[in-house]
Amino acid sequence: MFYNNFDNVQGEDRWGMVGKTGDPFREDCQLNLPCYQCQQVPLVIAERNWAATNNDDSQRYQIVVSCEHCGAVDYFTVNDGREGKNGKLRHSHRQPTIEDLI
Ligand SMILES: [Zn+2]
Repeated sequence: MFYNNFDNVQGEDRWGMVGKTGDPFREDCQLNLPCYQCQQVPLVIAERNWAATNNDDSQRYQIVVSCEHCGAVDYFTVNDGREGKNGKLRHSHRQPTIEDLI
């Protein structure tokens, strides 16, 4: 029952298996970006929520990050309209990239 393995992959959600290459913005990862409120690093990915399927069949996610120091919450979009394009953080207006992952 090969297709049943799909649900048993640790740390993956149902949607994460659907995209072509996926993305590395996973829960508990840290981003080397300053908090919009206290300017400290890092931001920790607290939530990864599936949002939509893009026209290129990539999967759009909302990534919620929180500051380790003051607890401020910010968020951005992965695969924002197409695969590989990230949106900007709502509050800090920075655009996270793969290079920002610690
Ligand atoms: Zn902070």
